[in-house]
Amino acid sequence: MKKIQMVDLASQYQRIKAEIDQGIQEVIDSAQFVKGHKVVEFQEHLQSYTGAKHVIAVGNGTDALQIALMALGLKRGDEVITPTFTFIATAEVVALLGLTPVVVDVDWGTMNISLDSIRRAITPRTKAIVPVHLFGQCAPMAEILSIAREHNLYVVEDACQAIGARYTFPDGTVKQAGTMGDVGCTSFFPSKNLGCYGDGGAMFTDNDALAERMRAIANHGMVVRYHHDIVGVNSRLDTIQAAVLDAKLPHLDEYIVARQKAAAHYDEAFKDCTNILIPSRDTASTHVYHQYTLRVVGANRDELKAKLAEKNIPAMVYYPIPLHMQKAYQDSRYKEGDFPVAEKLATCVLSLPMHTELDEEQLSYITDTVKGLI
Ligand SMILES: *Cc1c(COP(=O)(O)O)cnc(C)c1O
Repeated sequence: MKKIQMVDLASQYQRIKAEIDQGIQEVIDSAQFVKGHKVVEFQEHLQSYTGAKHVIAVGNGTDALQIALMALGLKRGDEVITPTFTFIATAEVVALLGLTPVVVDVDWGTMNISLDSIRRAITPRTKAIVPVHLFGQCAPMAEILSIAREHNLYVVEDACQAIGARYTFPDGTVKQAGTMGDVGCTSFFPSKNLGCYGDGGAMFTDNDALAERMRAIANHGMVVRYHHDIVGVNSRLDTIQAAVLDAKLPHLDEYIVARQKAAAHYDEAFKDCTNILIPSRDTASTHVYHQYTLRVVGANRDELKAKLAEKNIPAMVYYPIPLHMQKAYQDSRYKEGDFPVAEKLATCVLSLPMHTELDEEQLSYITDTVKGLI
C-alpha cells in the first residue's frame, strides 16, 4: 500500500506534470515574473468558473481578507463578527486594521458559524460579518445575508477552504462559495483544494467600485502610475503560481469529486458509530471536503490520534484552540466557557487524511483501523 499522507501533492503533480511544467516554462521564457499575462488569463478563467464579475488575484488568502476589509472603508473600533472556531487569519487582519473582532460560537454539527450567535453579537458598532465556509461547506449564507441586509452590514466570505462549493438559495438560485457576499476571499496555499506551488489568493466581487478599490489597494493604493490615492499594500500573485493554477483549474471539479468519494467512504464506514460522529451536512450547500473532520465523542481524541500515528495513519486537529482562548487575542470581553460548542469541538475534532489521490485500499485501511481503535 502507498504511504498514507494528510495531503499528497507529489502524486497529484505526477498526473498533470506535462501541463504544469509547460505553464511554468512559458513564464520563464517570457520573463514576465510579475504581472505576466498568465495572471490575467487565470483571473479570467476563474471568473468563468466561479461566475464572479471580478476576480482579483493577490499574494495569499490572508492578504485577500485584509484588502477586502480595507476596501470597505471601516473605521477604528468598528466591529466585525467572525466565528471563534477557525483558522486565525480572519481575526488577525481585523485586529491589524484596528477594527474590533467580535467572535461568536459555531454549530455543533456543521461546525460553521451559528446564526443565533451572530444575532446576539450585533451592536450599533457592528459593520461586517466574516463567515468562514469551514472545511469546505458553505456557512448558512441565505440567513447570513438576510441578517446583514436587516442590519446594514457588509458580508466578506472567507472561502479559503471552499472554492468550488455550491450553495442553493431558497428561491433556487445557485451560487459558488465566495460569490455571495460583498466580497469573497480564497487562498491558493498548496494544500488548499485549488493550490499553487507557493502562496496565492484571490478576491471575488460583483461590485465594480469595490473591485476597483481592491485592485488599487493591492497595488500600493495606486490607480494612475505613481499617484497614490489611498494607503495600500503590495500583494500580487506570482506569474509562475498563476501558471500552476491555470493548469490545475480545469481539474478542480474532478478533484472535488475525488474528495467527495473519499468522504463518502468515510461516511459509510462510520455512520453507525456512536463514539465518533461524521460531519453534518447543510442541505443548502455542497461539501468540497477541504478536510474530513470527525468529532470523537466516546473516546479520547488525542489517544486515538497517537494510536493512528503508530499505524502510519496521520490525522490532524483543526483547530485545537478557539480564537477567544488564543494568547494574542485574549480580551477582557471573553473568558473560557463563553463559547461552549467551539470549546468542545477543540477537544474532540480529528481530521482524517483527505486529498485527491486516496485509493480504496488506503481508505479501507484507515476506516478499519479507526474502527478497531474506538
Ligand atoms: C488558509 C486559510 C486562510 C489563509 O490563507 P493563506 O493563503 O494561508 O494566507 C484564511 N482563512 C482560512 C479559513 C484558511 O483556511
